[in-house]
Amino acid sequence: MSISLEKVSYIYEDNSDLKKPALIDVDLEIGEGEFIGIIGHTGSGKSTLIQHLNGLMEPTKGHVYFEGENIHAQDYDIKSLRGQVGLCFQYPEHQLFETTILEDVCFGPMNFGASKEEALQAAKEALRDVGVAEELFEKSPFELSGGQKRRAAIAGILAMKPKYFILDEPTAGLDPEGRVHLLNLLKRLNQEQGITIILVSHSMEDIASYVDRMIVMNRGRLEFDGDREEVFSHQKELEQMGLSVPFFRYLANDLKEKGFPLEGEILTLEDA
Ligand code: ADP
Repeated sequence: MSISLEKVSYIYEDNSDLKKPALIDVDLEIGEGEFIGIIGHTGSGKSTLIQHLNGLMEPTKGHVYFEGENIHAQDYDIKSLRGQVGLCFQYPEHQLFETTILEDVCFGPMNFGASKEEALQAAKEALRDVGVAEELFEKSPFELSGGQKRRAAIAGILAMKPKYFILDEPTAGLDPEGRVHLLNLLKRLNQEQGITIILVSHSMEDIASYVDRMIVMNRGRLEFDGDREEVFSHQKELEQMGLSVPFFRYLANDLKEKGFPLEGEILTLEDA
């Protein structure tokens, strides 16, 4: 069970002189249950890449398969794919538009054919999962704090019970506490419910501390793909791409785990 990209290229404005290659020959396989971080400079192709994972964009060249089937084949049920591969854009709370939070979260499941009752049950479950308090369910989205709104918007996708959940910069604009809360929530969804999480972030800190597999995009190419140690072993190349290896927290923690006698508290980048 996986999403796989085979030699995927995408060119914006392909039929004009302004051709803009955004993805070049990307080969990628994402299995169920993984926790993946995608990192790269602005313009490296991250957004274009994730929109290929649920069929929102179609490759200029190459193929995308979901569970072995070509998602752009003529008779493929792309709507069902979008229910299984949830995509959460940046600032998802801007899309909250119903009168109450609960109605908003019901919207997705109902759009995918659930009855009102099934939708309500899925919505309540999702809101509890993301940590929105019961007394807020009937409130207007506008009465919630920024962090709560973000979580409610995320619940709107979770209520569809996706197998894969892609989030574009989910912590953007949140305060440090909201950031940690949200990243922990994603970790929990991955570990307890087995949902595959694909997280796009420009923060090496967030990526390095939470994900099991890192994908580094650079000028439309998938440059590195591996665990933290593998990716950080390319420190020089990463620096050339404007990405820095967050030494204090991660490498120092690794050293400590491996038994090096480091004294006292380990500094975090934020402390430094
Ligand atoms: P990222 O998410 O890493 O910032 P994008 O996937 O948004 O990268 O962009 C990859 C490249 O494609 C960039 O060079 C960007 O300028 C270009 N691009 C993105 N969207 C469009 C568009 N709608 N039209 C033309 N070029 C685009």
